[in-house]
Amino acid sequence: MQYTLHLTQGCNFACKYCGLAQAELNMSRETAFAAVDLALAEGDTSVGIGFYGGEPLLCKSLIYDIVKYGQEQIGSSERKIFYKLTTNGSLLDDEFLHFAAKNGLFISLSLDGNRQAHNLNRLDRSGKGTYSKAISALPMLLALNPFTPVMMTAAPNTAAYLADSVQHIFSLGVRNLICSLDYSAQWSESELEALRLQYKKLAEYYLRCVLEEKKLFFSPFESKINSHIKSREYCSERCKLGYDQISVGTDGALYPCIQFVGDSSYQIGHVSSGIEQTRRKEIFKQSRTEHKECQGCALKKRCLHTCACINKYSTVNISQPSPVLCAHERMLIPIADGIAARLYKKRSGLFIQQHYNKLYPLISLAEDFVTQQGGKL
Ligand code: SF4
Ligand code: SF4
Repeated sequence: MQYTLHLTQGCNFACKYCGLAQAELNMSRETAFAAVDLALAEGDTSVGIGFYGGEPLLCKSLIYDIVKYGQEQIGSSERKIFYKLTTNGSLLDDEFLHFAAKNGLFISLSLDGNRQAHNLNRLDRSGKGTYSKAISALPMLLALNPFTPVMMTAAPNTAAYLADSVQHIFSLGVRNLICSLDYSAQWSESELEALRLQYKKLAEYYLRCVLEEKKLFFSPFESKINSHIKSREYCSERCKLGYDQISVGTDGALYPCIQFVGDSSYQIGHVSSGIEQTRRKEIFKQSRTEHKECQGCALKKRCLHTCACINKYSTVNISQPSPVLCAHERMLIPIADGIAARLYKKRSGLFIQQHYNKLYPLISLAEDFVTQQGGKL
């Protein structure tokens, strides 16, 4: 179980697509500690604590205190707390990176592509592009964790840069790229077509890389290829709303996921009183209501229409996907299937290991360890 603590509603950036109602509201130490207590009270051996914002690194000293408190609570028991955060990169410094490495805090970096694409939407508060600030700590992040995820948002005005942007990010040494769409934006037909052409271009690049045994993870292709291979069940992206993770607002209110924070109609408790199980169940049930247009769709087991967070963000209704999401899924799935079919036909060793060998993550880690040791064990 993961608890995501929204440490602040403040940010030092002003990204054009940001849905955050920025305010100088920070979580108190008492609230944060109560959230850690609640997470530990679940009794799991492994507990996840995420730091979110706004920009969570505006609250560095609170993060230090929370991690210290969490370690004190678990003492020398076998329990483990896994920490993670997503940052815009501008406030990362040596001290924090060493703290993260020492305490197993997993950092993801938001970066929207090459300089031109990134600077179209990810602006600082004076309206300047933030590309240089965002990548300044990337070399150190990658030195500490070669699998540091980069979180990229494709928006209508950056769609035409997608292929160059993805290749640029991989050329910086990144191997794990999580790319999602700005689903809340109005996408025109021509912008969606530009996006489709970019995916087609990227498919050729991805294919070449895999055939050359270069390990890279590009989430739109990986998730759809996976959903094809595991098509008997709903795709692995389907979460159990309110049961896989809980989001904690700055005031300690509990919500079933990130996009619900601040919307009292979806509050499912408070750190001081715990989770309201009845409300949690009701919201979960509501999220499982399938939209009528999706009921007979052949793609429904591979489609993100079940993500209540995306639906809420784009249509307000947690079980209604937006037309943009629908168009995007219909565009992406055949392209990903085409990649998979060609790699399978060519008997790509990396592709078969990655998608058909359950032990692949372990094998991959061992291979990377050997490479890092200069090829020797
Ligand atoms: S860095 Fe994140 S929280 Fe800050 S403005 Fe940009 S999207 Fe919003
Ligand atoms: S959103 Fe569109 S592609 Fe997805 S299941 Fe519904 S109808 Fe099918």
